[in-house]
Formats: sequence, structure tokens, C-alpha cells
Amino acid sequence: MAAPFVVVGAGIGGLAAAIALARAGKRTLVLERAERIEEVGAGLQISPNAGRVLHEFGMRAALDAVAIEPRALNIRRAADGAVLARLPLAAARERWGAPFRVFHRADLQKALLDEALRLGVEIRTAARCDGFAQDEDGVRLDVGGEALAAEALIGADGLRSTIRDALGLAASDAPRPTGLTAWRTLIPIETAPAALRERETHIWLGASAHIVHYPLRDASIVSAVAILEDRADRLPAADMRTGEELARAMGFGRWSRDLRNLLEAGEEWRRWPLYGRPELARWGRGRVALLGDAAHPMVPFLAQGAAQAIEDAAALGRMFADERATVESALDAYQSARAERAIRIQRASRRQGANCHYAGPMAALRDAAVRLMGGKGILARNAWIYR
Ligand SMILES: Cc1cc2nc3c(=O)[nH]c(=O)nc-3n(C[C@H](O)[C@H](O)[C@H](O)COP(=O)(O)OP(=O)(O)OC[C@H]3O[C@@H](n4cnc5c(N)ncnc54)[C@H](O)[C@@H]3O)c2cc1C
Repeated sequence: MAAPFVVVGAGIGGLAAAIALARAGKRTLVLERAERIEEVGAGLQISPNAGRVLHEFGMRAALDAVAIEPRALNIRRAADGAVLARLPLAAARERWGAPFRVFHRADLQKALLDEALRLGVEIRTAARCDGFAQDEDGVRLDVGGEALAAEALIGADGLRSTIRDALGLAASDAPRPTGLTAWRTLIPIETAPAALRERETHIWLGASAHIVHYPLRDASIVSAVAILEDRADRLPAADMRTGEELARAMGFGRWSRDLRNLLEAGEEWRRWPLYGRPELARWGRGRVALLGDAAHPMVPFLAQGAAQAIEDAAALGRMFADERATVESALDAYQSARAERAIRIQRASRRQGANCHYAGPMAALRDAAVRLMGGKGILARNAWIYR
């Protein structure tokens, strides 16, 4: 039997890639170092650009069964709760071919895993790839000391990618701290302030920090993420904090009562320092290519990391569906098709981050601009992402 196409990593990017390869008729094996396929307990927004790909994968009903479609996204001033703009999300399905959806990460990952298994993808857990060598005939992987032959290798192994390190595509390519930390929690809906229980997304803008939250799982829980500049965090480092500790660290005393109550309702906030890596215009060599965070990690301010990994998967599948393509030509075409857009979104995400954390007169200017543009204007400005 011919060697399989091997995907390293069973995150959202790796599973989407496996689905795309299997749909293109490739025998596909996924290697995951963890004992079990499981995502962190947190929410994930999936915008229409990625939703459309998943619809093409035939997953519309599976997604609808576990997702919530928020009616609107409210951009709010943390100090007093004023709604600066309200983005009407409900029209997205018609306008961009798929809705804005929010998921518990584990639910999306399970839907992708089920679809991959249905298509005959083989998944091996507790299988860590430690490196590879390649020549014109194929790739040989080192899987915890065991040799494995592959036709092609897709490194979907996340921010700290072993495959990226082994490819050596850039000088001084190590992950670097961004100076920002995300704190995440899930809150039972009945303990959230009554005004924040509806099926809508809220983004609260404060000095040096901002908060995003939305309901999950039939609106039984609220997923909340607080992003804080490290220099503004005056408490000793800890991997977990209570809502009260976090509120103190973020100076929430001056913030709107509903927001403070929401934050304090989170009993366990988990720390997630944010790292970046240099932009890459090439994502591979020969029979090996990167995908998702391994290729283009990005700060989460446009909620596009997983969405871009899903777009990568679609492009990969398209290139391999061409029967005249060789492995090398398909992977080359894949990188050429994707790199420019991914870099543009990496940069736009960084700019958006700075914009979220202004204080003083800059914050007042930003708030006035957000009001002037209005929800529809902001959606129109971001249409290049969702189209
Ligand atoms: C706070 C926060 C909020 C975010 N919100 C959003 C959002 O709303 N929308 C959005 O689109 N994106 C969002 N993102 C980004 C998104 O989470 C990531 O871009 C996405 O999960 C990346 O998926 P991935 O499959 O590329 O990598 P990962 O999820 O990191 O998966 C990599 C997998 O590879 C495995 N692995 C690693 N090394 C090896 C090895 N050597 N051998 C075998 N297996 C290996 C790992 O165990 C893991 O399972 C957010 C990120 C953060 C931090």
C-alpha cells in the first residue's frame, strides 16, 4: 500500500486538513502527541469565511447542532458600559454564505473528528513526531523513535511546531512573548448578570485590557476571555486566578458594574500567555508544509487563527484534488495561494489589538470613530476577511 499523507497535530487545523485531504482522495493519517483528542475548555468564534469551508465539507448540520449564532456583536466602553457600536450579525448567512457561529472548542473539534473518521482518516494518539527527513521519493518521520514513511507531511502542530523548527525556514524563528496574556473562563449562565445572558457577543474596551464574552451550549454557559497587557498586571504570576483577583489586577474597580459582576462570576480564570513568531512567506519545502498556527500564529483580536487554519485546509484540498499535480507542485501552489492573505490577517490582528487598549485622549478618539462608523460600517470595513 502507498505511504499515507501524514498530518501532525489533531487541533482544529490538523483535523480540517485531514478532512480536506481525504475528500481529495488521499489516504490520510493524523498523529497527535496527546493521549486524547481534546481542546481547552473555552469558546471559539468561527466567522463566515471559515464557516463556508465547513459547509463545503458537508458539515452544516453538524455545526448547527452544537453552535450558537449570536444576533449581534456589541462594542462597549468598559468604564460605563456604553454601547459604542452594535454589529448586526444575523444577516451574515445571506451576505457571506455562512453565519457567525460560536462554539465550545471541544464541540467543534469533536464534529471535525467525527467527520474525519467517517471519511476513513486514521488517527493515532500518543504519537509524537520528533522530526523528519525527506528526499524525492518520500518523507520518513521519527515518531517517538519509530520510523514511519509518508507521501507528504503537513505540520499542523501549533505555535511551538516541531516541523517548523526542523524546516528552519527563518533565522531567529523562536516563539516570542507579545506582552499580552489572555485569561479564560466558563461561567454558568445563571450566575452571569441578567443583562448579559442574551445570545449576543460583547467586547468591552478598557485601558490596557479588553474583555470578550458570548454564550455557549444552548446558552447554558458564558465563555469569557480577558486580555491584559503584562505591564498592567501587578499581581504575582499564577496559572489560575479568581475573578476578584483578576478584577484587582485589571483595575476593574473603575469599570461598569455589569462587567465587574461578570468577571467576578468566573471562579477559575486560566492564564494563556500570547506568543508570536516571525511572518513566513514560505511554509515548507519539497513534500513538507505547515498549516494553521504552525505557519501563521496570530494574536486573537480578529478571531481569525482557527478560521485561517480552516481556510488553509480548504486550499490544501483544492491543490491535491488536481490529478495532474505532484506532491511538490500541490504544496507549492498551496503556500502561494495562502501566504499573502494569512500575513495580511496577522498584521491586521496586531493593529486591532493596539486599538482595543488605548487610554485617555486616544481612547476618546477611538470611541468617537467607532460611533461614527457604526456597526454596519465596521462590518463593511472587515468584509475583506469574511468574503
Ligand atoms: C485567547 C484566544 C482566543 C482565540 N479565539 C479565536 C477565535 O475566536 N476564533 C479563531 O478562529 N481563532 C481563535 N484563536 C486562535 C485559535 O485558537 C488557533 O489559531 C487555533 O486553535 C490553531 O489551531 P491549530 O490546529 O493550528 O493548532 P493547535 O490548536 O495548537 O493544535 C496543534 C496540535 O498539535 C499537537 N502537537 C504539537 N506538537 C506535536 C508533535 N510533535 N507531534 C504530534 N502532535 C503534536 C498538539 O498536541 C495539538 O493538538 C484564539 C486563540 C487564543 C489564544
